[in-house]
Amino acid sequence: MTFDIRISGGTIVDGTGSPRFRGDVGIKDGRIVALGEAPGEARETIDASGQIVAPGFVDVHTHYDAQVLWDRMLSISPWHGVTTVVIGNCGFGLAPTRPAHRNLILRTLEKVEGMSVESIRAGVGDDWGFETFPEYLDVLEKRGSAINLGVLFGHTPLRTFVMGEDAVRRGADPAEVSAMARLVREAMAAGALGFATSHAATHNGYDGNPVPSRMADFAEIDALVGAMAAERSGIVQATIGKTLLWNEFESLAEKYGVPVSWTALLTGLAGPGSHRKHQERAAKNVRAGNRIVPQVACRPLNFDFDFNEPFPFEMRPLFGQTMKTDRAGRRALYADPAFRKAFLQDSSAESRTPLSGWYDRTVISLAPGQPELDERPLVEVAAERGRHPLDLALDMSIETDFKARFRFAIFNNDEAEVGELLNDPNMVIALSDAGAHASQLCDACYATHLLGHWVREKKQLTLEDAVHKLTQRPAEVFGIRDRGVLAEGRPADVVVFDPATVGASGLTRVYDQPGGADRLRADAHGIGAVIVNGRTVRRDGADVLAADAALPGRVLRHGRG
Ligand SMILES: [Zn+2]
Repeated sequence: MTFDIRISGGTIVDGTGSPRFRGDVGIKDGRIVALGEAPGEARETIDASGQIVAPGFVDVHTHYDAQVLWDRMLSISPWHGVTTVVIGNCGFGLAPTRPAHRNLILRTLEKVEGMSVESIRAGVGDDWGFETFPEYLDVLEKRGSAINLGVLFGHTPLRTFVMGEDAVRRGADPAEVSAMARLVREAMAAGALGFATSHAATHNGYDGNPVPSRMADFAEIDALVGAMAAERSGIVQATIGKTLLWNEFESLAEKYGVPVSWTALLTGLAGPGSHRKHQERAAKNVRAGNRIVPQVACRPLNFDFDFNEPFPFEMRPLFGQTMKTDRAGRRALYADPAFRKAFLQDSSAESRTPLSGWYDRTVISLAPGQPELDERPLVEVAAERGRHPLDLALDMSIETDFKARFRFAIFNNDEAEVGELLNDPNMVIALSDAGAHASQLCDACYATHLLGHWVREKKQLTLEDAVHKLTQRPAEVFGIRDRGVLAEGRPADVVVFDPATVGASGLTRVYDQPGGADRLRADAHGIGAVIVNGRTVRRDGADVLAADAALPGRVLRHGRG
């Protein structure tokens, strides 16, 4: 047999951004051995006539650190053509963790994962089988996964390991910083892709405490990045806050020569056009030779909430009173016509806030007792019932004792502005957050959304450019050396898709998490085949490997596998 797999008659888009060409692909022993012409016999043949053959997509911003321990298929990323994911983002992760701190770490992950601690515990089990970061990598390797994993070393478990419960309370002393630095070097030697941290005000852990990395001053971060750079080259991934942004990233890039990728540059964060000053600063850094790469997203940033904790509205003065009262107080407030009138006024287009007209772009994400309303636009249901959507939302909340949930986009929803970021060569498309916020959002489908919505429907990017931005570009930014390009000799991570139908479905709520917990999920359209290291893992929208089979994904130590 010449080949294990032969993909014939397709159009090859190789990930470099070069123009497409007609050709065949031959795969043998996990690698691409023929590209363009591939004459010979094969054990498995994939007819790709009318289809695009591209490198598997590389998703550099995921949170599968816990899920990988109960779901080796890493659903739903491979459904959408993703063959490599990076975990450990925002400084979250499970290692290193002492047995005594396991509960603390799971409770820290609870909010960011968007699932209950009971569900995470049911998934991870009592016997973790690892304590240190190198042991965690060994466990991932032994268990196997359908797709490849690059692993960042996270500041949050690191701090908890060294400082215990003090990690959420104070800065580290010099002895603690040097203990952490030692562990950073150990993680880099074992194959971590880099070091990840977060100063985001929205990142909270157990009992309303900030996540541990938020308590680190810049001197601590500087010392840990220095340890990373001294051991071997790696990337810094950072989720921004007021005291961790351009000045600090420029300092790290200049002092240590390391690349930094920060999360996230969204449109509308500080009003219309507010993303442009970041584009200018990014361009200035590229000219100066600093590798500082903002992460951008091709989907709107959604918030999923109930009116007992009306998170998106809490930035408005009107909602100050909802935070000062209790559940019963909120119920009374929402029933009060005067409050509703004020809320309506505050939501009008004239108010010019990110919340203006929120109800026009809201879906009912959960309607207890009326499942036929799940995922339906609020305005549509309101029109059927002759109600104003704002009244309907508040009535549903009161009637269900706040179990009704709603979702709308608050940032990154002005498509002209998002298009500017997607076309900026100094950015990297990321922020799927796959595996996190499971019950609140699902952007793990960003790759099929980019190809369907932004390439085919909006024609904002060429297919070649979009594939490049899903493959070679993120792989290069994150130091993943051997992925993201179709070329002879490279590992055979390949996706075959139909450019006429590729896309992501709307979201559905499913109850397939450990212990029956829920998550939101998007299906993929038009993905014909997904191949990882020369083995087919998906065909025509279904897994083809038995769940208990040895799986082809590799842990990409030092960015290679
Ligand atoms: Zn994240």
